[in-house]
Amino acid sequence: MSSLRANPLIDGLEPYDPKYLPARVMISANENTTDVPAEVRAAVLARLADLPFNRYPDPLANDLRDALAHTWGLERGNVIMGNGGDELLFNLALAFGGEGNALLNVPPTFSVYENNAQLTGTAVVNVPRRADFSIDEDAVIARASQGDVGLVIITSPNNPTGTLAGRAFVERLLDATRAVVLVDEAYSEFAAPGSSVADMVPAHDNLVVLRTFSKAYALAGVRMGYLLTSPAVVSELTKVRQPYSVDAVSQAIALEVVEHKEAFVPVIDRIKAQRAVLFEGINALSGATAYPSEANFLLVKIDDAIHAGVVWQRLFDAGVLVRDFSRGALTRNCLRVSVGTPEENAVFLSAFADALKG
Ligand SMILES: *Cc1c(COP(=O)(O)O)cnc(C)c1O
Repeated sequence: MSSLRANPLIDGLEPYDPKYLPARVMISANENTTDVPAEVRAAVLARLADLPFNRYPDPLANDLRDALAHTWGLERGNVIMGNGGDELLFNLALAFGGEGNALLNVPPTFSVYENNAQLTGTAVVNVPRRADFSIDEDAVIARASQGDVGLVIITSPNNPTGTLAGRAFVERLLDATRAVVLVDEAYSEFAAPGSSVADMVPAHDNLVVLRTFSKAYALAGVRMGYLLTSPAVVSELTKVRQPYSVDAVSQAIALEVVEHKEAFVPVIDRIKAQRAVLFEGINALSGATAYPSEANFLLVKIDDAIHAGVVWQRLFDAGVLVRDFSRGALTRNCLRVSVGTPEENAVFLSAFADALKG
C-alpha cells in the first residue's frame, strides 16, 4: 500500500511526549503537586452550577481579559487567552513564523518551540546558552537584528535549566529588533520578585509575555494561559486562533482563580522554600549536582561515572517519576526534578541517595 499523503512539514516529526507514567510521587511535569485550595474549589463548583453548557463560550473570554488586565495595570486589548500557554505558542509560530521568517531559539529550552517552528515551516536559528546556561546576550541581539527573524523566544525562568533572563538584556533586545520577542514566564511566580518583564509591555509593541495557570495556579488539567502584549500583536493572533479554543468551563474556573489569587500565595511560598531544601539535599549527596533554579524544578547533573538513565529507572522502580533529559546534547546526563510537597521531596531525596549508590 502506498503511504498516506501527509503534509511534508510533519515528515519525521516526533510527537511531543510528556513521558507521563503512573507513580507514587509524580515530580516530572513541573505541575503544582498541591491542588487548588478547598475554598477556591468550592467557589468554582458554585460558579459551574448554573453555567449554560448549550451555548458557545465568549470566543475571546473578555471577562477574563478584563480581570487580568486589571491585575496587570493594562487594558483588555493587551491580553489574549489561550487553551494553555501551548496553544498560544503554536499561534505565535503561525502568526510570526512561516516561510521567510526564522525563529531565534536559545537552547537548551522547551522543545515545543522547535516543534511548532517545524509544523509552521519556520526556519530555526539556535543561539545556544553557555555551559552555565546563561544567555549569550550579545550573540542573541546580533542575530535577532538581522532581518530574517520573525520571533525570538526567551524563557525566563528557563525550562529545563531554571535560569532567569536579565531585564536589561530583554530591554536591549526589544530595542535592537523588529522581531516579536516572546518572554515565556510560565514559571515567573516562583522567581525573584521584580524579575518579570510584564511591566515593559506598554513601552514595546514587539514584546509578548506568556503566563499560564498550569504551574503556580495548579490548573494544568484545565488548560488556560494568556499573553500580555500590544494590541497590534493581539490583532495578528486573532487571525490565526481557533474561535472557541477557550471553553466556558475553563473560563469560569480561571476567573474564580484570578479572584482568589491570594489563596495561592502560601503554596507558592512553600514551593520556593522546598526548592531550597531540595537543592541543599541534592548537593549534599556525592554523585549529583543541582543547578540553581528560579522555577519550581531543579536540573540535576549526574556524575559521569553513572548513567542518568539508570538513576531514572531506579527512581521509577522506587515509585518516583522524574524527567530524563540525559540524551539532550546540552543537558547531558541530567534529570529534571519538580519541587513537590515536603513529604514527596523527602521520599525523592531518600530514593535518589539510594539510586546514586546503586
Ligand atoms: C508549562 C510550560 C508552558 C505552558 O504550559 P501550558 O500548560 O500549556 O499552559 C509554557 N512554557 C513553558 C516553558 C512551560 O514549561
